[in-house]
Amino acid sequence: MTYDLALENGTVCTENGLFPANVYVEGEEIRVISSIKEKLPAKESIDCSGLFLLPGFIDPHVHLGLALGRYTSADNFESGSSLALSGGVTTLIDFLDPISDLAQLEAAKRDRMTAAKDSRVDYSFHVTLAGNPSFSAEEIARSSIAAKMPSIKVFTTYSSSGRRSNDGMIYSLLSLSRKLGFVLMAHSENDEIIREREKEFSRPTYRDISSLRPTISELSEVAMLSLISLEEEGQLYIVHVSSGKTVEALSSLGLDWRRFTKLETCPQYLLLNNDPLKTDQGYLNTYCPPPRTDQERALLQSALRKGEISSIGTDHCPFLNREKWENRDDYPTIPNGTGSLGISFATINTILDGDLKRVSSLLSTNPARIFGLFPKRGVLAPGSIANIAIVDRDVQSTVSRSRYTRSDHSLFEGIKLRGSVETVIHRGKLAFKNGDILLPKASGRFIERENIYWEKGTCK
Ligand SMILES: [Zn+2]
Repeated sequence: MTYDLALENGTVCTENGLFPANVYVEGEEIRVISSIKEKLPAKESIDCSGLFLLPGFIDPHVHLGLALGRYTSADNFESGSSLALSGGVTTLIDFLDPISDLAQLEAAKRDRMTAAKDSRVDYSFHVTLAGNPSFSAEEIARSSIAAKMPSIKVFTTYSSSGRRSNDGMIYSLLSLSRKLGFVLMAHSENDEIIREREKEFSRPTYRDISSLRPTISELSEVAMLSLISLEEEGQLYIVHVSSGKTVEALSSLGLDWRRFTKLETCPQYLLLNNDPLKTDQGYLNTYCPPPRTDQERALLQSALRKGEISSIGTDHCPFLNREKWENRDDYPTIPNGTGSLGISFATINTILDGDLKRVSSLLSTNPARIFGLFPKRGVLAPGSIANIAIVDRDVQSTVSRSRYTRSDHSLFEGIKLRGSVETVIHRGKLAFKNGDILLPKASGRFIERENIYWEKGTCK
């Protein structure tokens, strides 16, 4: 038998460890993982000497082509999926627009499916709730599962734009999540603390965002939701944890919370602090939750090293310099968001000092398990989809704005990181090599996800 693709002489990374091996692909799937000495015939072969093979990364939190008031985020699915591939990401999960009525679900999905048709990589969506919905928790849960999107996002803040879900709805969803088989995702900031803080500012600018949305607003909300999830044995995923203090507070609850609550953080909270907000360029550092102090950033890095973070998303949602600049003196009108798609691997590999077993858990295996993509994705094994990131673990690099983004700046410019993505395979096809994207647009497909039960996999 002749295989379609051979990846030879590299080191394969699984949850159980790293070992030298050859990987043989037929069609879209991995068929054989053999010892280095055992070479099999293949139509095309790539020498991976000195490199490591990781399961293709999954970014469970992106906003591509997101319309936010007058502006639309700079990267659409075409540029965003190129950026993804350049960083080893072979699966993206974006969000439907918020809905408040069951009848809106189909249209919300159709809109995003249209937006995603140019994606080079496979994609799925989370259902997003608006405030004061007409449906019950059970109705929206069953509908989301039936629509093959068993993950539902709520906001605990943004009451001013009608997106805040009330605690009763959140409690009901958490109580149902494990029974029905879905994940509740929460943007967790305490709305009332934020509204109280707003009273102190007559016209807040970007310089005020750290005190407008203080750490306690995140910490108190995350603690409350985690306690509900613990009590109800829920499946809760906290998006974009911004401060190490939040993780520290959860740790004081004891270890059991981790069975019922998974934490996500993003490269911007691990690498950047709020010092730039004091400068004239600080209007670019506007994203939500806001950047924190350097001490909180360092604490977050140490929480990651200790294994208290389960997953890395980017919350990729960049806006152009001009779009932020023209609103710099009026914080409520600044389009919030920044771009970090493409740098997750080097960021996490640097913080974890090249521990690829844990890097691949955070960037691939855990998000695959958490969001119902495992074991087709999130692992390199015979029978899994041939999504593979081939990386150099040790090369040093300096971040610059990617040639693939449509954004005109990067907040990470000049940061030195360790590790780079050399070659990427997407569903058995060579998708990225030597800095070039080789996969045409519209190569990606919608991934239908089935019910999710965390106890069936040992999510970390
Ligand atoms: Zn987001």
